[in-house]
Formats: sequence, C-alpha cells, structure tokens
Amino acid sequence: MNRRKFLEMLAASSAGLLTLPTVLMADDDKGLPSALFQVPTQTGISGNILIVGGGMAGATLAKYLRLWGGTGVKVTLVEKQPSYTSNIMSNKVLTGQMSLADLNYGYDTLTGHYGVQRVQGEVKAINPAGKSVTLAMGGTLAYDRLVLAPGLEFDLLPGMTSQSEYDQFTPHAWRAGPQTQLLRDQLVAMPNGREVVITIPKAPYRCPPGPYERACVVADWLADNKPASRVIVLDANPAILVEQENFSAAFRGDFGYIVDYRPGCTLTAVNSRARSVTYTNAKGSSHAIQAGVLNPIPPQRAPKLLADAGLYNPAAEMSVPVNVLSYESRLKGIHVIGDASNTTQPKAGHIGNQQAKTCADAILRALQGKAVDPAPVTNSACYTPITATTATWLSAVYQYDAEKGIMKIPARHHGGGAISASRATTENYKDMQVWFSTLMADSFT
Ligand SMILES: Cc1cc2nc3c(=O)[nH]c(=O)nc-3n(C[C@H](O)[C@H](O)[C@H](O)COP(=O)(O)OP(=O)(O)OC[C@H]3O[C@@H](n4cnc5c(N)ncnc54)[C@H](O)[C@@H]3O)c2cc1C
Repeated sequence: MNRRKFLEMLAASSAGLLTLPTVLMADDDKGLPSALFQVPTQTGISGNILIVGGGMAGATLAKYLRLWGGTGVKVTLVEKQPSYTSNIMSNKVLTGQMSLADLNYGYDTLTGHYGVQRVQGEVKAINPAGKSVTLAMGGTLAYDRLVLAPGLEFDLLPGMTSQSEYDQFTPHAWRAGPQTQLLRDQLVAMPNGREVVITIPKAPYRCPPGPYERACVVADWLADNKPASRVIVLDANPAILVEQENFSAAFRGDFGYIVDYRPGCTLTAVNSRARSVTYTNAKGSSHAIQAGVLNPIPPQRAPKLLADAGLYNPAAEMSVPVNVLSYESRLKGIHVIGDASNTTQPKAGHIGNQQAKTCADAILRALQGKAVDPAPVTNSACYTPITATTATWLSAVYQYDAEKGIMKIPARHHGGGAISASRATTENYKDMQVWFSTLMADSFT
C-alpha cells in the first residue's frame, strides 16, 4: 500500500451502517486541511454512552458515535484536562521546532458541532454493577455502555520513590506536557560536552519507534548546538525494535551525528536528583553513568483505576485484554480502547483512532440489536523525524484473524510484515506534516 492510499484510508471505517448525514465544509482553527464537517442527524438509534479520556482514542470515539449514531445517542466525554496536548510530534518540542501550544487541541468542535456532552473532571472509581462512575470532584455519572480511553500510567524505576521525581528532576516526557518543556529546558541549559542519557523500557510501551526517534532528533540538535555532547541510549530490549535499518544508519552517523546505542540493559538504580543511572549490560557487567540530562522512559501500564475495577490483573498483565471485534473487556458493557487496551496492534495514536472507529461501529450495532462486524480492518502509520528536515515512515494494515481472535498483519501484505521507508528524506518529512494534520483533524474536528 502506498502512502497516499494510506492517508485516504485514515478516514475510512469498517462501519457503513447508516445513511450519511449532511455534509458541510468548514475551516479549521489550526490551519489543518479543511475537514468535511458532517452534521449528526436523527437515525432512530438511542443510548447513553460514557467515555473516559479525551485523547486520541476517546476524542475520535466521541465524534464517530455522534456522526454515525446520530442525535439519539447521548455521548458524554469525561476528560480531566481542559484541552489535549498531542504526544505525537512532541519530540520536536525538545529541539525547539514546535511549542506545546502548537500541539494543543480543544474540544469545542466535539461539543459545539457534534453535540458531545463534555465533563471536565477525573473519574476516580468505576462501578460496573451499578453502571456508573464516580468523579473525583464528587458526583456520579450513569451509562448504558462505558468506554475507557485513559491512556497509560508510568512505573517508578528502581531507586525512585515518587512520581514527582519525573516532574521535577528527570522527566520521562512520555506524556506531552510540562515534563516535555522541562526536558527541553534541561537540554538547553546543559553544558556542551555533557551526555544525554535516554533509557527505553521493555516492550510493549507507547509508540515503539518513539524513543529511537527521540534519540535521533536530540542527537541532531546537539550536533548543531552542543557538538561536544552525545546521546547514550540504554535499551532494555535486545535490539532496536522497529525500523532497524533506518535507526541503525542514523545512529552510526549517516546524518551527521552519532548515537551510542547499548541494547540489553537492565536499570538497577536511578538517582533523579544526581541524574545518575546504574545498569547491567547485555553481558551482565555493571556500569554507572552520570548524565548531563537523564531522560528515563519508564515501563507503562493501564491506569490503576482499571485494575481496581477488575478489568485487568496488575500482577500478571500491564493492560486490559479486549475482544478486538468490539473492544469490549471481560466486563460486559465496558469497552477499552487506545493504549490502555492489550491487543496485537502497537500502542499508537493512529491505532487508537482506528480502534475507536471499530468500537463505535460495534456499540452502534449493539444498540440496534445487530451483530458486530466480523472482519474489522485497522491501519497504522508512524512518521519519524530523523533530523530537523528528514523523516522515515512505517505502516501496517491489520485484519481480524478469526482463528486466533487477534488483529494480524495479513500474510499477503508485503510478505506479512509492516512496510517502512527505505531511508529518511525531506519528502517524507513533508508527508509527515500532512499525515499528522489529517490524523488530528480526524480525531478532534
Ligand atoms: C514522544 C511520542 C511520540 C509519539 N509519536 C507517535 C506517532 O508518530 N504516531 C502515533 O500513532 N503515535 C505516536 N505516539 C503514541 C500516541 O501518543 C499514543 O499512543 C496515544 O496518545 C494513545 O492514545 P490514548 O487515547 O490511548 O491515550 P492519550 O492520548 O494519552 O489520552 C488519554 C486521555 O485520558 C485522560 N484521562 C486519563 N485518566 C483519566 C481519568 N481518570 N478521568 C478523566 N480523564 C482521564 C488523559 O488526561 C488524556 O487526555 C507517540 C507518543 C510519544 C510519547
């Protein structure tokens, strides 16, 4: 599949279940490509759907439930933040090419245009038996069906005692926001000649190429701004997980910087105040590094709220098992989409957008007493900046494998694997901006 076809597929769905509502053209407040704004109409379907989390997956779901389900479907979106900050492209904040404000997306179109009810608040408990959630600010919200899209929480690393250490001293910046700005400020303040240490957790984690991308763009920025400094990557995985050829070429110097990549590392202690880390390498010997900037990306798991509700077992699982035909969890009527779900698809914003569409379709069918689509298809794209002007890309299509009950890259798709760019180019970099704008417009406007 070529990239243009891929971008076209982004807005496609597996649904096709209703007559299409009125189509209007509208401008967008971020200069995104002009989206087709379709107006929800009355379709005869009714229900009360509550969504927790207005990120990539939750926002897309809210929009498509109203768009396809119409005005009889009450959709309430509970999100604790006033607006969303995209993780995608947030590595460009580290190099000063973008600001956090550039990555900010509001909920006005979801509420004003699609008629989604928005509650700004944090859900602190789920009551599956009573079909309600409890808000931290007090009060409960009832639902017919609940969809959880809260993203991930971050583990403490050995030697750490509080999440505030990430906020104050060694930002992971794996959820875009104040930690991203702190990491940027630390990079700017770091004396030339000091080392930037990035640690990568064992997979699965959010955005498989993301840490390697970060190593590249930071090393590229250092080459221009602090040429005596370098990036060291301590990877808990035995090798680069994705786009091996592209990242290996970048790490060894093809783009004017070198990254010191060390696979198979197990962190044994992180001292966030001293910005030091000790680890055992692949051969079992112990080492210590005193970093100029330490960016430890921790292991990640579905929020404790979901474990407390019985949706996954934190002793054995890191995220919530779901039926990928509907994203319904082991608790009937409760669905989980995005990074908090455990599927064979990568934890990625593009995939969250796709899962939301499958889930919306399944819920609307259920509200009509119809069976789910037995053959959903999702796709994923990931563009990766390698320097300030070049990027690579990686894409995959997933189809339902009925025998195994999983989403799988079909064997006939390019020999059964994901496809990626053969090298980083400026053309890919331009395509990356189009892909990002299209994805965000599809999710939030
Ligand atoms: C540096 C970086 C680069 C990335 N690049 C890419 C890329 O190129 N392509 C790609 O596809 N993906 C990329 N990703 C991954 C992508 O950002 C995530 O996979 C995606 O954001 C997951 O979407 P989500 O909706 O599951 O979670 P999120 O987007 O994290 O949204 C979850 C939302 O839920 C809210 N929430 C959580 N708990 C509660 C609660 N209890 N009550 C109310 N609200 C709550 C949060 O405030 C948040 O807004 C990248 C990630 C990083 C860190």
